[in-house]
Amino acid sequence: MIIKRVLVTGGAGFLGSHLCDVLVKQGHDVICLDNFFTGRKKNVEHLIDSHNFELMRHDITMPVFLEVDQIYNLACPASPIHYQYNAVKTIKTSVMGAINVLGLAKRVKARVLQASTSEVYGDPTIHPQNEAYWGNVNPIGIRSCYDEGKRVAETLFFDYHRMNNVDIRIMRIFNTYGPRMHPDDGRVVSNFIVQALGKKDITIYGDGSQTRSFCYVDDLIDGMMRLMNAEGVQGPINMGNPREFTIKELAEKVIELTASPSKIVYKSLPSDDPKQRRPDITLATEKLGWNPEVMLEQGLKKTIEYFSKLIDC
Ligand code: NAD
Ligand code: UDP
Repeated sequence: MIIKRVLVTGGAGFLGSHLCDVLVKQGHDVICLDNFFTGRKKNVEHLIDSHNFELMRHDITMPVFLEVDQIYNLACPASPIHYQYNAVKTIKTSVMGAINVLGLAKRVKARVLQASTSEVYGDPTIHPQNEAYWGNVNPIGIRSCYDEGKRVAETLFFDYHRMNNVDIRIMRIFNTYGPRMHPDDGRVVSNFIVQALGKKDITIYGDGSQTRSFCYVDDLIDGMMRLMNAEGVQGPINMGNPREFTIKELAEKVIELTASPSKIVYKSLPSDDPKQRRPDITLATEKLGWNPEVMLEQGLKKTIEYFSKLIDC
């Protein structure tokens, strides 16, 4: 394998830190760039002493000058509570961050991959969602800073490609979970596990009939790296686990696996919360030979183990 110089923006976050692990293990020279808004040094502290790993505090809304061969652009808060905390900053991160990584890719002729999202489909009117669907997004709601920011980022990627021949990859990530999610992240899997382990009420927003499809982090990182390293596949390409569950089913599964005495309580549903979500991954399977392998129960067990240790510490 040819050793590459790889930049991972958002590398100290949940997905970014797992990606850095694999890249460092493969021997690549990895620069992990992060402003530590939702990411933590702890997520990558085990890599600090590796000769082929470098941690860089930087905000991707500002230009960055480096010599690299590949860029994974993951910098952006992903949990609704965190991306809504400073909505304007979230848009800046997606839009100016995209301009900055694309400018860098253009200057040094690097390949650049954008971590886009199923949120570009909004509250979808087709099911499951395939890449040809243009989405149903509210442009002025509380999720719009994230959804529209990611949509503009995709536009910028294609415009830099058309105008400057930048070598781009776009993956649309569906709900992914696993170890190193922040315990206060606010996303549903970590919330339910932390609540169950702490014997607290499990908070379902709405009646719990809304659906999501949950992908384990190792599967997702495998797909991300396949996309980056494949020739002739630009995307956008969906990545996620097509097995769909209601949020109520997820809550019950977490209670069962943790043997928790927690009770389910129902809270109001945030506005614009998508009713259903399931990826059509035909493209990823055909073009990249990718298929997620970790079943929900198996992935939840590993995630529960991680949070149990974290809470014990
Ligand atoms: P995360 O919040 O754990 O990671 C995001 C990282 O980006 C953090 O380390 C954060 O500190 C960093 N960051 C935020 N703003 C920054 C800025 N301005 N400059 C530099 N660094 C910044 O979330 P994650 O789940 O690891 O998500 C990673 C990427 O994948 C995000 O772009 C997200 O939109 C995308 N994504 C994730 C999911 C998922 O289910 N995990 C789904 C769809 C898309
Ligand atoms: N959710 C919930 N309880 C929680 C956190 C989330 O019922 O404690 C719901 C949320 O309303 C949504 C689903 O779980 O319908 C997934 O939420 P998450 O924030 O994980 O991701 P997203 O909505 O961005 O898919």
